[in-house]
Amino acid sequence: MNQDAPLSDIKGIGPKLAEHFSSMGLNTLGDLMMNFPRRYQDYSNVQEISGITPGPVSLSVQVDSVKGRYVRRGMHITEAVVSDKSGSVKVVWFNQPYRANAIKSNKTYFLSGELVYKNRQYQIINPALELKSDLPTHTARVVPIYRESKKLKSHRIRKIIMGLKDEISEVEESLPEQIIQDYGLLGRAKSLGHLHFPQKLKDIEEATYRFGFEELLTLQIASQLNKRNLESHGAPRQPFDARQTKKLVDSLPYKLTNAQRRCAFQILKDLDRKVPMNRLLEGDVGSGKTVVAALAIDQTIKNSYQVALMAPTSILAAQHYQTLKEILPSINTALIHGQLPKKDLDKALDQLKSGQVDLVIGTHALIFDQPIFKKLGLAIIDEQHRFGVNQRAKLLAKNDQMPHLLSMSATPIPRSLALTVYGELDISVIDQMPPGRKPVKTKLFGHSQREQMERSVAKLVQEGRQGYVVVPLIENSEVLSAKNATDEHQRLSKKFKELNVGILHGRLKEDQKQSTLKAFANNDIDLLVATTVIEVGVHVENASIMIIEGAERFGLAQLHQLRGRVGRSDQQAHCFLITSQDVSQPKRLKALEQVNDGFKLAELDLELRGPGAIYGQRQHGALDLRMVKLTDAKLIASTQEAAKEFTKKPKLLLKYPRLNEIVKKQQSLTQLN
Ligand code: ADP
Ligand code: MG
Repeated sequence: MNQDAPLSDIKGIGPKLAEHFSSMGLNTLGDLMMNFPRRYQDYSNVQEISGITPGPVSLSVQVDSVKGRYVRRGMHITEAVVSDKSGSVKVVWFNQPYRANAIKSNKTYFLSGELVYKNRQYQIINPALELKSDLPTHTARVVPIYRESKKLKSHRIRKIIMGLKDEISEVEESLPEQIIQDYGLLGRAKSLGHLHFPQKLKDIEEATYRFGFEELLTLQIASQLNKRNLESHGAPRQPFDARQTKKLVDSLPYKLTNAQRRCAFQILKDLDRKVPMNRLLEGDVGSGKTVVAALAIDQTIKNSYQVALMAPTSILAAQHYQTLKEILPSINTALIHGQLPKKDLDKALDQLKSGQVDLVIGTHALIFDQPIFKKLGLAIIDEQHRFGVNQRAKLLAKNDQMPHLLSMSATPIPRSLALTVYGELDISVIDQMPPGRKPVKTKLFGHSQREQMERSVAKLVQEGRQGYVVVPLIENSEVLSAKNATDEHQRLSKKFKELNVGILHGRLKEDQKQSTLKAFANNDIDLLVATTVIEVGVHVENASIMIIEGAERFGLAQLHQLRGRVGRSDQQAHCFLITSQDVSQPKRLKALEQVNDGFKLAELDLELRGPGAIYGQRQHGALDLRMVKLTDAKLIASTQEAAKEFTKKPKLLLKYPRLNEIVKKQQSLTQLN
């Protein structure tokens, strides 16, 4: 059967069941096969009753007696006694009234379940039971446990997968034989078999390695192909002029850090090449990336090319506009955003086309979709990790040459991720903070310590400090029980009558956002209740308190990013993390109290929660690494080498359509989750 066959083509799957699968994101035979078990329960060791001890057990038994009854409304109990030649044991099933009638007294069964000692006797609760003459599915083997939904339980999925055993054993290989041999991998069919029908736990390990290899391999190929494609385009060369740069550096009100100098030099040298730069400038929040970008902007414009600077939010775009106006006062700059009146927008676009404007600043979407440039020499994208293939294609379509590309991000990328996912990028890291910054004092509070926390906050505010209160939601949500900005704004306004409490979130009108931020910057607002719109870029020096509600919902890297909104002056800043009612897992969060280094936190997150944690919430179509341990340096090195097989011989990929399809998808990722 074709891997793309819809699930309803499979025997035993009707439209209803197919729908349940579909709501779990599984639509084709291939999806189902690649839906790997979450975990396993080892029931392969079939024991004699006389030897069992509490815990999971497997037995081969006859059923001596079985009886079902209702103990009260809605509570049915089936009690049985099972035995083998060594002894007998009690079995109990709750709310499975069909059990008693289904059991035959003269047959031998496999029984697998949990033995407990309860009410002064040993009993096995809710075990699976299968005729020994059948192929065991739920008993007497290493039993796979699948992700389940309300409508679709793991045992149902297990049963269906069992029915596909032959199908799975004939699955086509997706990797070249040579690679399988060279890297000692298991074949695809065998690996799938090992994952769904493992004989022993070692099987699972080998199969996991194989799929992990495949996942990383496609990423590496995608990344290497991207690099090659980009380098096949010519770029506008912008000679580096040391004197010019020095003049600008000397005009700054502060001395650049050594890290800023080093990174700037790498970028300015790249601009001086005929192939397009593709560089990521990485630096913790507040490390001073903007001024480094300004040096690049200056060099490009002095060479008579234009620059586009894209930010993820209009708030941030406006802020960049302000900052860059100060650093580069003589440059003609335009700010465009979604709520600009049509005629102002048109005017700005005209000026871009004619070359009157040298630097345009706006949100990602606007700049990609709208402007035609006269001569774009450099595109800078802030707070996004890289340019996607589609974005590049758009830029190229509007220009004769590929402009140089610079991404900037405060999200620290652990080295292992950088080598794989970002293999196509050159990376510059600002690993040093401007002098005089004090680390933010961070304290974690449990839900019951709210009073104590709010007293500390009130005290700081009375001393003249300002603070952010970050909440997970904008409005009350039926699905998620988390604090929302609207209610929290009301609650705090009521509780702290003497304070000015403001509110900021993505659904406000543009001018409302701007006027709120302005009021905050002018110290007319004491506490600003906000969603994560403030996560990136917002810079208000007097704000030195950061409260994060529902902290357990955020990844460490994201919390660190949020925390970076404060501590932007010589004032001692404070970060208060508070968890919601229903959690007790602050161990991970405790790390924030001690660790101030974004890289360390990112490594920790990667280890504890996988790559998704670093990039915030899951997004459709984005990177989904299920099998890979990104901390496995040897695997990374092997896949990098194996990927070269494909990038040296591009036609090879065409012979492996599944691989090719995945590579294509990964090539165009811009956001990684
Ligand atoms: P980020 O890397 O988070 O984008 P910014 O570029 O916004 O950081 O810089 C944060 C602040 O640090 C700004 O107010 C900027 O003027 C200041 N700054 C940048 N570089 C230096 C430096 N070398 N010395 C002192 N202050 C600096
Ligand atoms: Mg910034």
